[in-house]
Amino acid sequence: MPNHQFFYPPSPSLWFDLGDLKKMLIKPFPKLENIHAMAIPMPEPAELITANVYAVGKGPITLIDTGPKIPGSLEFIQERFGLAGFDMNDVERIIITHGHVDHFGLAVGIREAAGHPVECFIHAEDSWRVSKEGFQEELWSKRMERFMAMVDMPQKEIRKMRKRFSYFRALADPLGEVSAMEDGDEFTGDGYHLKVIHTPGHSPGASCLYECRQKILFSGDHIIKHITPNPLVETERNRLRNPNYQSLKAYLNSLDKLTGLDVRFVFPGHGEYIEDLPGIISTYRLHHRERMDLIWNALRKKLLPLYHLIDDVFPFVPENDVFLAVSEIFVHLEILINEGRAELANPGPPALYRAL
Ligand SMILES: [Zn+2]
Repeated sequence: MPNHQFFYPPSPSLWFDLGDLKKMLIKPFPKLENIHAMAIPMPEPAELITANVYAVGKGPITLIDTGPKIPGSLEFIQERFGLAGFDMNDVERIIITHGHVDHFGLAVGIREAAGHPVECFIHAEDSWRVSKEGFQEELWSKRMERFMAMVDMPQKEIRKMRKRFSYFRALADPLGEVSAMEDGDEFTGDGYHLKVIHTPGHSPGASCLYECRQKILFSGDHIIKHITPNPLVETERNRLRNPNYQSLKAYLNSLDKLTGLDVRFVFPGHGEYIEDLPGIISTYRLHHRERMDLIWNALRKKLLPLYHLIDDVFPFVPENDVFLAVSEIFVHLEILINEGRAELANPGPPALYRAL
């Protein structure tokens, strides 16, 4: 039996196997004033369990994320709105925690259902991902091709990935108009006060929203209870303010940024709410440290392109997670290089790295 223990996860994202996840019941979100949680069941990727949408406010509503465009998701939100005593035309603004399809996919549908202009906000570093111009390129680009060659991804895996990426593309309508937000921006309304905390790592523009009155942290994919929020390899660094951006380094710095924040509940982008933020942060740190050691050990044994290290690092990787596995190896390797524990032995492609 594969060992599903936390320190040796079978796949790059799962902390539990899917059997456990299916048995897991989502605890209902705590009832709060002016905050309504709507957890849309996610058919695929199933390990996300739900895509969480939050309605904040009494009358004019601010939505935090929208969930993906999947059959029934708009109706699901409409129904939840009705139960809370709202209507879609109460939506006055949408704040998107980061530019991934399962977080902004329904924004266009919600705007249309609202029947009036609804301003959408996303951090400036991710705004290109949700725009009509950037959307196509976001999921597959020339730079992604180069990354694939660098890691020696086999053609058959690339074909599977492209198919998977086109599935993801169908989960969203790109946005024609979007407003950029920055760290420290504030959104206020009747009964709430939200503050933007830029927490890059999972995505360069990933941001949490802190509701100061009730001390709720809307964490997007920065903090999730049941899976590790992958600091995904960023192939489009040329679009960023810092062209030397490194996902995992940024992610760990973003965890620091939340240290000491007075949080009653974390409301994540997927799955259950969280009560112990400091506890989960220290678990994440340990997890990444363990994973770095695992990758360092794999490198020490073999001088092979990164794709060929998967068997050593993630022996039970599900077919759909091969890209995540390579991405995880790469982002941890960047830290090993920063720390002087690994070096580039041959730039390739495919590139070869050596443990030191
Ligand atoms: Zn995401």
